[in-house]
Order: sequence, then C-alpha cells, then structure tokens
Amino acid sequence: MNKRKHALNVRKDDTVVILSGKDKGKKGKVLRVLPNEDKVVVQNVHMMKKHQRPTATVREGGIVEREAPIYASKVQVVCPNCGKPTRVGHRVVEYGKMVRYCKKCDEIIDKE
Ligand SMILES: [Zn+2]
Repeated sequence: MNKRKHALNVRKDDTVVILSGKDKGKKGKVLRVLPNEDKVVVQNVHMMKKHQRPTATVREGGIVEREAPIYASKVQVVCPNCGKPTRVGHRVVEYGKMVRYCKKCDEIIDKE
C-alpha cells in the first residue's frame, strides 16, 4: 500500500486529546490542520500570547492569547462513537472512498 507522506490522522473538527506537554489530558476541537508541518491547531490548547496590532476592526492593540500549532503526533483522536481516545485506522469502503475508523470499537469515524 502506498504511504502518503502527509496523511495525517487528524482532521478539522475532530475532537482530540493532548498526549504530552503542559496541556496533557486536555480535550479540544481541531480548528486547523497544517499538513505540511504535521501540526494541528486545537481550540484552547497551547495558548500563546501574541501582540495584536490595532486594525480596522480591532481598535485596541495589545496582547491577545491565541492557539499555537502543536505536532499532530502529540494528539489522539477521540472517537465520536465510543468516546475514547483511539488510534485511527484507514479503510476503503465502496467506490474506493477512504474513511477512518476507530481501532477500539471498529466504528467508522468519518460520517458523510
Ligand atoms: Zn470508537
């Protein structure tokens, strides 16, 4: 089987749990996936202070906290079916479509 270089197991809108670092054990929703860097941005995880310049919409500049990307290998997908952090497998279903499934409960994660 071909191994795609940037096949991340994590996708936008997944719920993930953080496996290491200061946010270990936290759960959050994936806001963005950066496949070229193997990183993801998770809501309320790995908050970094950033200087914000005043813009047309934000009159006040100052310091804001924003999520910084973390390595995708540091998160694990929480299965929407069994609710457990799990390893994700890939399976080809009809029409050659590739879907992800939970290795714990064997349910398909990607619903249409
Ligand atoms: Zn499951």
